[in-house]
Amino acid sequence: MTGIGTAIARQDYDVIIIGSGMGGLVTATQLAAKGAKVLVLEKYLIPGGSAGYFEREGYRFDVGASMIFGFGTEGTTNLLTRALDAVNMSLETIPDPVQIHYHLPNNLELKVHKNYDKFIDELTAKFPHEKVGIHRFYDECWQVFNCLNAMELLSLEEPRYLMRVFFQHPFACLGLVKYLPQNAGDIARRYISDPELLKFIDMECYCWSVVPAEKTPMINAGMVFSDRHYGGINYPKGGVGTIAEKLVEGLEKFRGEIQYKARVTNILMEKGRAVGVRLADGKEYRAKRIVSNATRWDTFEKLLPKNEMPKKEERWQQRYEKSPSFLSLHLGVKPEVLPIGTECHHIVLEQWETMEDEQGTIFVSIPTLLDPSLAPPEHHIIHTFTPSYMKEWQGLSSQEYNHKKEAAASHLIERLEKIFPGLIDGLDYQEVGTPRTHRRFLGRNEGTYGPIPSRKLPGLLGMPFNRTVIPGLYCVGDSTFPGQGLNAVAFSGFACSHRIAVDLGL
Ligand SMILES: Cc1cc2nc3c(=O)[nH]c(=O)nc-3n(C[C@H](O)[C@H](O)[C@H](O)COP(=O)(O)OP(=O)(O)OC[C@H]3O[C@@H](n4cnc5c(N)ncnc54)[C@H](O)[C@@H]3O)c2cc1C
Repeated sequence: MTGIGTAIARQDYDVIIIGSGMGGLVTATQLAAKGAKVLVLEKYLIPGGSAGYFEREGYRFDVGASMIFGFGTEGTTNLLTRALDAVNMSLETIPDPVQIHYHLPNNLELKVHKNYDKFIDELTAKFPHEKVGIHRFYDECWQVFNCLNAMELLSLEEPRYLMRVFFQHPFACLGLVKYLPQNAGDIARRYISDPELLKFIDMECYCWSVVPAEKTPMINAGMVFSDRHYGGINYPKGGVGTIAEKLVEGLEKFRGEIQYKARVTNILMEKGRAVGVRLADGKEYRAKRIVSNATRWDTFEKLLPKNEMPKKEERWQQRYEKSPSFLSLHLGVKPEVLPIGTECHHIVLEQWETMEDEQGTIFVSIPTLLDPSLAPPEHHIIHTFTPSYMKEWQGLSSQEYNHKKEAAASHLIERLEKIFPGLIDGLDYQEVGTPRTHRRFLGRNEGTYGPIPSRKLPGLLGMPFNRTVIPGLYCVGDSTFPGQGLNAVAFSGFACSHRIAVDLGL
């Protein structure tokens, strides 16, 4: 099946990957390293998606992610290190001694130190009556992590692999099966009763899962709450965008191909099977397997006809909804804005009731504290963002839109003055992004950060793996198991490439 007129069909790829986000690139590099002929099609100008970057007036800003897990040196959960290594690449990283400095209601100030004991001591000093509960909860997170970190993380859809890991690590596997249907909030409530400490655990989850603990799968919580003290948080020198750049370099060394400004408009079907893709310019490419790194909503509503959505996807859409997008400020600031000893990552919230609200919780990253080369001399970057829904930004004239953006940016900066006094006067550069910006530049439906449970679900059980009901079509990235975050989508890339490699007999 070819398009009309301009189409040029090529049938010689093993795998085509739609999108060069971290999920897509890990899939591509893993498959290329195994000898597959791989083509990545990216609609934007550079790779990385939400882990990309942009440059303005001497600043190199991360578009999204900048608290990076997965660069540890030991165990099996250091998936970014492993993904680069598979294509003979590596990156210099800068360890961050503190994951997050929390500035929470009722003057609850806390730092999550890389040193686990230091963090637990600081938390128990704030909640001495909950010392036992705190230990029990975080110890249980370690149990999850130790199970994950004992085994090679590949496709849970591959029975021979499952048998192999079960025989190699029976207790770890049984541990994971136990935690798979559980949520962090239920486990926290088993041990902890102080309402404020439970709110803190909610925030510990919300700041990466964008849902409170009762909806956050325990597998993800165990991973995040332990790996930050094990592999740690490590910032890639040169900015987060270098991870994608290095993966592309590795991909090309292994004869993989990537095209930019290549927007896929359709997944081509033949006899009920995905066989290729069509680009916006009419070109068509065919391959034995097609992988979509676009969100599930984009894949099944735009790249495939919405009115033919498989029942399984309809059910998934009932269980999961789109998380909010973000209002983002990329600021260049003078150094005097940052008090001595400022940490790289901050979370700010004034009232617990507003944690999940539109523009409630504020996230802050200052990557130049770890890598000063990202800003002009004597300047810093502050990237701050707060959840915001697309509906807030639609139906506005361009004048109204610009006015609303400016007002929202000013309000956010005013709130940040609490931790950075003098921020307004110290501004050197400002760029504001809204959910519309995230949709436009990251190609994400309504600019969403990713899927979140629409009601309380049994842990991660409902999150789909990489195969879809459409033969030949796979999904990878944050709409697949185990969800959002660079290390998580790297996991999904390892799993997806593993399943495809087995299917192709590589
Ligand atoms: C503001 C923000 C802050 C974040 N902070 C962190 C953090 O600190 N730590 C962390 O680990 N994670 C963080 N995340 C989450 C993390 O960045 C994402 O979960 C992850 O990068 C998603 O990767 P992905 O591969 O699923 O998809 P994406 O990054 O969305 O990549 C998908 C790619 O596919 C392309 N594409 C889509 N449709 C098409 C098409 N039709 N044709 C061709 N190409 C297409 C897109 O252009 C994009 O490049 C943050 C995200 C945001 C938005």
